[in-house]
Amino acid sequence: MEKTDKIYKIRHSLAHILAMAVLDKYPEAKITIGPAVENGFYYDFDFGDEKISEADLKDFQKKMKKIISQKIDFVEKEVSKEEALEKFADNEYKKELIEEISQNGEKITFYQSGDFEDLCEGPHIENSSEIVTDAFKLTKIAGAYWRGDEKNKMLTRIYGVAFGTPEELKAYEEMIREAEKRDHRKIGKELDLFTFSDLVGSGLPMFTPKGTLFRDLVVERIQKIQDKFGWKKVTIPHITKSDLYKVSGHWDKYKDDLFHVKGKSDTEFVMKPMNCPHHTQIFASSPKSYKDLPIRYAETTMVYRDEQAGELLGLSRVRSITQDDGHAFITDEQIEEEIKNIVSIIKEFYTSLGMLKDGNYWVSVSVHDSKHPEKYLIAEDGLFLKAEEIMKKIAEDENLPYKVVEGEAAFYGPKLDFQFKDALGREWQLGTIQLDFSMPKRFGLEYTDKDGGKKTPVMIHRAIAGSLERFMSVMIEHTAGNFPFWMSPVQVAVIPVGEFANDKAGEIFEKIKEAGFRVELYDENEGFGKRVRKAKKEKLPYFIVIGEKDIETGKVTLENRDTGESKQMTVDEVIEKFQKENNQ
Ligand SMILES: [Zn+2]
Ligand SMILES: [Zn+2]
Repeated sequence: MEKTDKIYKIRHSLAHILAMAVLDKYPEAKITIGPAVENGFYYDFDFGDEKISEADLKDFQKKMKKIISQKIDFVEKEVSKEEALEKFADNEYKKELIEEISQNGEKITFYQSGDFEDLCEGPHIENSSEIVTDAFKLTKIAGAYWRGDEKNKMLTRIYGVAFGTPEELKAYEEMIREAEKRDHRKIGKELDLFTFSDLVGSGLPMFTPKGTLFRDLVVERIQKIQDKFGWKKVTIPHITKSDLYKVSGHWDKYKDDLFHVKGKSDTEFVMKPMNCPHHTQIFASSPKSYKDLPIRYAETTMVYRDEQAGELLGLSRVRSITQDDGHAFITDEQIEEEIKNIVSIIKEFYTSLGMLKDGNYWVSVSVHDSKHPEKYLIAEDGLFLKAEEIMKKIAEDENLPYKVVEGEAAFYGPKLDFQFKDALGREWQLGTIQLDFSMPKRFGLEYTDKDGGKKTPVMIHRAIAGSLERFMSVMIEHTAGNFPFWMSPVQVAVIPVGEFANDKAGEIFEKIKEAGFRVELYDENEGFGKRVRKAKKEKLPYFIVIGEKDIETGKVTLENRDTGESKQMTVDEVIEKFQKENNQ
């Protein structure tokens, strides 16, 4: 959504109209800011001691519709700082904004709609008749700190959604309902994958045996793919002296976002927020020659970041983050081949998830801002720019649907990110490849080149699944808990129809288990229907029913979660089918 888009102007104008409706009912409320956001808008108010309820939302919405029907104009006017301060003499929030605008040397503008005036830089629609009244809705009330800062006063935020047509609003609401049903916190609990404890702390998920199995399966799959490309596993401790980040340059910027560890000595320790600096020290532990490169270290390990408590959300935003991390140390000449190899790993992994389909993903190639080259580590050797060209070339050669995003590169190098669309059309950045021309220099890493001279390697940071926590949350919501066969903690249950079939079921259970599949035997003293419902509730890809007929024919009935089909087959046929699916 661009500021010049009609829908942006509509959403932003609705924020003003919301403020009008609020002031109509609560003239003492103080207005603060009200921007357009994705799918809608919000406005933050200081209601003093007044508490706002759902009933108020209804009143506000009604009033907004009335205001819209009056076909009011939105008119911009420039005002002096004095005029602006006088108009908002009783509003400390607006006064703070006015002071800031004037300090930045920008002009101060008001927008008038009806008899309401707001400090605003626009743009807006010209007349409220441009708003389709059945295409917007006030949705919820939430608390929000003034300017997002915990030290400030908590304000009341009123959210609305708005679209160009009522149909778009309906589709959006349908998507939200579906997203609620698929919420990973809800399904994660139903499938018994992870848990939180007040005693452990917020943002610190713990994974149950099933959740841990899920994580191991993902990691093993990635490991199996990247083994082919020479990635070696390493292991590092979870704490480090702060000196490591002083050398890497992260200390000044990030020290307040780290967990600090107090030991017996005066040495300052922290929980690691990243693995790259540790990995440089493994590289530096012995002399390297150009013949040793590329050197590739992979490690699936937790990092720790002290996120604000208010921003933590299920597995999507946590304080303990498991990265499937990897760092390659290469020569300048190896950049292209190494990136290509990592792209291959990402492609193979997401193909096995059925997510690498046209229209379901795209690749962003983040390059430097050509207007501000001074912000980047564009050295005289031209490697930064060459790497950008290499990334574009690979995206082209590999037929990746890609966009070049200017200004999104890090100061130390360009990157290539895989963005995937989930079943609800939401985009997630998962796999990532990032070049780094800075860290090896900072740590004085070197290798001996062909001519005997010392050279600095180039470093690549890469993640295939991204963080395992976020990956799990995305996979849960994308599949609604119906994981692909290879990723399911339990792949199949064997269910005897009645006690008479228990022995046979036990035999089949053993056979499938021996073949290496994750199978459970549901032979509890419970009704058959109840056990079938359990298999369905656990979203197992398959369950096998053993009844009288199955015993007679020496076959089993295999029920498929995704197609709903049931089929009689021999156990050997079942195992063969599973083997095929496991390798997909
Ligand atoms: Zn405005
Ligand atoms: Zn890294």
